[in-house]
Amino acid sequence: MTTPVPRTPLAPLDPGQLLDLDRDHVWHPYAPMPGTTRPLLVESAAGVRLTLAEPVHGRSELIDGMSSWWAAVHGYAHPVIDAAIRDQLGRMSHVMFGGLTHEPAIRLARTLVEITPEPLRHVFFADSGSVSVEVAMKMCLQYWRSRGRGAKRRLLTWRGGYHGDTWHPMSVCDPEGGMHQLWEGALAEQVFADAPPREFEPAYVEHLDELLSRHADEVAAVIVEPIVQNAGGMRFHSPRYLSALRELTTKHDVLLVFDEIATGFGRTGELFAADHAGVSPDVLCVGKALTGGYLTMAATLCTERVAAGIASGDVPVLAHGPTFMGNPLAAAAANASLGLLLDGDWRADVKRIESHLTTGLAPARTLPGVRDVRVLGAIGVIQLDHEVHIPTATRTAIEHGVWLRPFRDLIYTMPPYISTTADLTQITTAAIAAATPTQPIT
Ligand SMILES: *Cc1c(COP(=O)(O)O)cnc(C)c1O
Repeated sequence: MTTPVPRTPLAPLDPGQLLDLDRDHVWHPYAPMPGTTRPLLVESAAGVRLTLAEPVHGRSELIDGMSSWWAAVHGYAHPVIDAAIRDQLGRMSHVMFGGLTHEPAIRLARTLVEITPEPLRHVFFADSGSVSVEVAMKMCLQYWRSRGRGAKRRLLTWRGGYHGDTWHPMSVCDPEGGMHQLWEGALAEQVFADAPPREFEPAYVEHLDELLSRHADEVAAVIVEPIVQNAGGMRFHSPRYLSALRELTTKHDVLLVFDEIATGFGRTGELFAADHAGVSPDVLCVGKALTGGYLTMAATLCTERVAAGIASGDVPVLAHGPTFMGNPLAAAAANASLGLLLDGDWRADVKRIESHLTTGLAPARTLPGVRDVRVLGAIGVIQLDHEVHIPTATRTAIEHGVWLRPFRDLIYTMPPYISTTADLTQITTAAIAAATPTQPIT
């Protein structure tokens, strides 16, 4: 006879009890344990709105101005994606990908190859953005190893970037601005260029050229976020740097990786940020909005040259295989989400959001303490000349019925593409209110 494991019955719990348990047991992103700030308890979400389990600062519904970190481009509970997942659930929710395959993943790979820049041709499915960056790095290092140039195992990037929180991606995140500086000495030491200026400056290209020629023998790849550096500081840069990087990496025999996990699928006004410059990387990472924000999935794409290079080595395989690789439910969600995107008018939606954010955020320029206001595609940023007082700014946005998650000196939004004019007005009003100096609350 087995003895049942003792367990406290867990129902019913009111919101206060749930949040107490959350504080005691549940670790949240970039948070201490136990938690010191109370998260909002979300009960459901539909369209652009999150419904809270209990009203907070007078609001029980909030417009999600963050698209759940760039992901929920079609909003929540979209009938088409919901139906696609239910339909897939009726067949199978998962099977291993080693030795087995299935239609949702095959269709998704084919769509990704079709819509990403030529000549990307092969797709490795990963279970999160960070893992897809790990895979991209492994591909690049192994490419050179297979070609007899195993000394090429460092990466070159520019400062101000963000590529994920797992170990090797941390080594190419901004070495100063983020939280990863904690690990200086423990992380692989990569080669860092200065952060890219916003406008095109030939001197910056010379700087990249100089670094690449100095380190060409030991650098496997350059990895950057094209056009928008997101979690490293929401900085924008000229597409001409991408063309320059393409030329320089070719010249110095270095691979080029674009991390489009945040910028992919229309967010910057082109389907991929690389399209602003009409250049194609050797390796491309996508994630976040891939499944419309429904399930965790990312992908690493590469060219035939990279795959063939790897295959030419004494170890011809890519030794990577996540347990949940190619998950059918996630692939079905991604197929439905990409269908909505490509059959719909994402370009018009993003343009409409861009012009609305441009007008709506403009008044922030004259606020005291505001350093810069910038908009690109469906991304709007208010940068202060000091750190945001996050509890106050978050609370102010909530009082205006909007969920924003500022960081460092930035109050920013990337709304779902389905946001209406009224939703966008509410978001920009909330962002401006959050940027307006007030007495800090404690
Ligand atoms: C979010 C992000 C990642 C990491 O993706 P996860 O799914 O959070 O692991 C990597 N690179 C960029 C550019 C991102 O925005």
